[in-house]
Parts: sequence; structure tokens; C-alpha cells
Amino acid sequence: MLGGTFDPVHLGHLRSAVELREFLELDRVHMIPACVPPLRGEPRVSPEQRLAILRLGIGDTPGLVADPRELHRDGPSFSADTLASLREEVGGQARLVMALGHDAFLRLADWHEPERLLTLAHLVVIDRPDFEAPLPAPLVALIAGREVADAEALMSRPAGGLLRLTLPSRMAISATEVRRRLAEGRSVRYLLPEAVERHLMQHGLYRY
Ligand code: ATP
Repeated sequence: MLGGTFDPVHLGHLRSAVELREFLELDRVHMIPACVPPLRGEPRVSPEQRLAILRLGIGDTPGLVADPRELHRDGPSFSADTLASLREEVGGQARLVMALGHDAFLRLADWHEPERLLTLAHLVVIDRPDFEAPLPAPLVALIAGREVADAEALMSRPAGGLLRLTLPSRMAISATEVRRRLAEGRSVRYLLPEAVERHLMQHGLYRY
């Protein structure tokens, strides 16, 4: 699972998903847009539109799935509930991974039921340029004893481990910067898939 606001999806998300799948030899990566992200302001674009843009961005990429499940739930989109529904689908013995960027990881102890996340899945933290602050104390306590050295150790169990990864194409792309550029009428070429750029331009999204 790679959850996010995807407001909009960009190549930092998509390339990370592809490299994550290769590195951990995952069957698939479910990219799951939050309907109502609990810890941030309302996204600029509706959940349905963000999902449609995500679908365009994924296109025919093998192993990446635009997963609408958080749009079907009311209330805040808690990742613990999403992981519980994935766990129910794949069964107790499958390896389930929740991937997140280092910036999101830094706030993990403030998420809803953070301990439950770790009973349901492994955490894989993707290194991201510009987000290198030290870990807050509650996060250190949450992950104590969980960190493993490599993918093999992580994948020897269904859940509960933590692996930090630096993917080969570490990208300094953020949706904040994409939105800023669009609002200023500047180029977003090569930050987003071309189909996504075309869609945003055609519909005038993020322009104001
Ligand atoms: P914003 O700038 O609006 O906060 P974002 O670019 O961080 O957005 P999100 O949709 O919030 O995008 O991110 C979803 C997940 O993808 C988070 O776990 C985030 O850390 C991760 N992520 C986002 N951009 C990158 C990137 N360039 N490299 C690796 N991980 C990323």
C-alpha cells in the first residue's frame, strides 16, 4: 500500500512505487488516494478527480493499482482501517507492506492507532530529499526493536517490521511544488506523466 493525497500524483510517487515493487518483489502496489486526509487541510481537488488523475498517471504500468477503497468509506481516511481491509483480502500469512515517504514517517506517531498499523503490515520508509529531520521521541518509542537490515529479513514475516530504503531514483518532486508551479503558470513538464499534465491543462486544475 502506498497511500497519499495524490493532489496531484507526480513522478516521485510513481517512480517510487515501481522501484519499491522491484526491490521487494511485490505482487502489486496499491496506490490509495485518501478521501478525507486526517492530518492536513482539504485537498484542492475532489477525491474522485484525484483518483481519475491517479489512474491516468498509472496508465498500463505493470503491478501498480489505483485503489478506490478509501472513497467508499465515510469519515477520516485512517490508514489502519485501509490496511485492515487489505489484510482481510490477502489473508493472515501474506506479507503486507505500508510504504511512506520520510516526511510522512516523521509524523507517524500522531496518526490514528499507530500501533495497530504495525500489527497489520510492515512499514517501509522511503528516503526523500529535503526531509531529513531527526525522529521525534514518540516515533522512536513506536518503532523500537522493529527495524530490520534488509528486504529478506522484512519479508520473512507477514507484518511488524520496519525497513528504511533509499531507492535508486530518489526524486525531489512534491505535489506542493507542482501546485505552486501550476498556479504561477510555470512548467511542470517531466514532473508528472504527460497524460496527467495534459488532463490538468485541459481542465484548468490547480490554476488559481
Ligand atoms: P504535498 O506536497 O501536497 O504534501 P506529496 O508530494 O508529499 O504532497 P502525498 O500525496 O502527500 O504527496 O504523498 C503520498 C506518499 O508519497 C507519502 O508517503 C509521501 O511521503 C510519499 N512521497 C511523495 N513524494 C515523494 C517523492 N518524491 N519520493 C518519495 N516518496 C514520496
